[in-house]
Amino acid sequence: METGSKVCDVCGEAQPVYRQVYSGVSFCASCFKESIEKRVRKTISRYNLLREDDRILVAVSGGKDSLTLLKILARIERDYPRASLVAVSIDEGIPGYRDEALRLAADMCRRLGVEHRVYTFEDLFGLGLAEAMNRGVLGRLGLGACTLCGVWRRKAISLAARDLKATVVATAHTLDDIVQTYIMDILRGEFPKAPIGLRREGNGIIPRVAPLRLIPEEEVVLYAYLSRIPFQEIPCPNAQNSQRDLVRTFLAQYESRYPGSLFAALKTIESSIIPREGALTPCQLCGEPSSRTICRACELESQVSSLLGREGGLVRADIGVDDVEGVD
Ligand code: SF4
Repeated sequence: METGSKVCDVCGEAQPVYRQVYSGVSFCASCFKESIEKRVRKTISRYNLLREDDRILVAVSGGKDSLTLLKILARIERDYPRASLVAVSIDEGIPGYRDEALRLAADMCRRLGVEHRVYTFEDLFGLGLAEAMNRGVLGRLGLGACTLCGVWRRKAISLAARDLKATVVATAHTLDDIVQTYIMDILRGEFPKAPIGLRREGNGIIPRVAPLRLIPEEEVVLYAYLSRIPFQEIPCPNAQNSQRDLVRTFLAQYESRYPGSLFAALKTIESSIIPREGALTPCQLCGEPSSRTICRACELESQVSSLLGREGGLVRADIGVDDVEGVD
């Protein structure tokens, strides 16, 4: 890794381990970690992402981003005695992949003293992702694994948030993730309807925030390494050839040649987003936020259940669903 100066530009003493190309600053390990934590605190206060009495659900997959977020939020939360954290992992049912991540997430929560809960697709939707693939559900619906997985994971987190009475959900989306999502929207012919990871409330919806939204992915990885956070390194077997994977590769190459492009893209896109009136309306079936009358997750539940010949949908109504506000 290129480090530029002979000493850290911040403390002027220690040997640098990282040169932040887009700012020209070289950091030693300690100053780098401190700068990331400071930037997360600043992001939270700049966008009013969290409140002093929030019950914060942190979505923890067991990867570097979510474990880094959990560690930083656990540190910040100590300064706010009225706030509390609960970590939630979703087991999608991908054999040989998710088990290690769940163990790493549980270990980290134990070390930080944070409550950890696991919710499974099997319990929430009646079948796991591998089963949906093996039974030909995805093929018959013309869906990629990541489409069903992404939509249901989002729904699972929302159900968990209601179950655990969280007032806000914190996700580990980084600068790269957010720009990728905007570009994917644009490539699908849609302009982003609302900024990702900023607190939006109303209609009984539990807001989602992304405290790492101004941290590039490579800096999250470096923070995790320097902090000795054990995280799952093997990628999901379904990740290759996803739309996101293509966009991720392109943007990473572009950023490496033209540093600062991701920040520029985020700023340009977000300054042009005009939040649509009524964008935050609850789905008529489950009450979760949706730009449609029936959200995509409920639509997929109904399609999958009719393909499998199950009546009454897939969701087992023993968590969350009965407590959803705003359902007519
Ligand atoms: Fe799910 Fe796709 Fe992520 Fe794998 S890569 S966990 S299938 S969204």
